[in-house]
Amino acid sequence: MTKKQFKAESKRLLEMMINSIYTQKEIFLRELISNASDAIDKMYYKALTDETITFDKDGYYIKVVADKEKRSLTITDTGIGMTKEDLETNLGTIAKSGSLAFKTENELKDGHDIIGQFGVGFYSAFMVADEVTVTSKAVSTDEAFKWKSDGADGYTIEPAEKESYGTEIVLKVKENTEEENYDEYLDDYRLKAIIKKYSDFIRYPIKMELTER
Ligand code: ADP
Ligand code: MG
Repeated sequence: MTKKQFKAESKRLLEMMINSIYTQKEIFLRELISNASDAIDKMYYKALTDETITFDKDGYYIKVVADKEKRSLTITDTGIGMTKEDLETNLGTIAKSGSLAFKTENELKDGHDIIGQFGVGFYSAFMVADEVTVTSKAVSTDEAFKWKSDGADGYTIEPAEKESYGTEIVLKVKENTEEENYDEYLDDYRLKAIIKKYSDFIRYPIKMELTER
């Protein structure tokens, strides 16, 4: 399988993003949940005009599940999903991303609070993950595909198995370093607090599997 390279400008933005310009790494979750919500919105509008699709309100949700043993954080949505081409164009180039809101490096340095105002997009996942896998099945298709990247040097796309349409994003959460604690992104209660802080307005249910403690 050949590995494709990100576009040059994407690569540069990606590097800037990962290399600590962004201090509030926790906002990656806001970005992924907002994408999931957008995808469910698209599903909703599609259902309005396409009579082969019924929008069953209970069938639409976002799920956030952490697995400490595997160091994985999985964000699933029952939204519109992505075709192979969508994965290629939407995740293969950062120009498609909200990250384009950032124009120059200087703007980035000046605006330490910029993060609260702009969407930084899908790539922010690489602030906390050293590998991201996106498995998606677009509505009205019966093929699923898996997009995988370690951020730094490109991505691969291959056929995958997925029963229902929508998208599953698995982050392989980074190991802790002396400066940075990443374990917190595998802690359900910490995740719940991040969701409350940034995603309280999301119109679809955000499900978690909280265990007593
Ligand atoms: P933005 O949300 O500003 O467009 P992002 O970088 O967050 O930028 O996402 C890039 C694109 O990838 C989205 O516009 C969308 O087309 C696609 N995408 C990302 N996440 C999902 C998802 N969960 N379901 C469907 N499409 C998605
Ligand atoms: Mg987005």
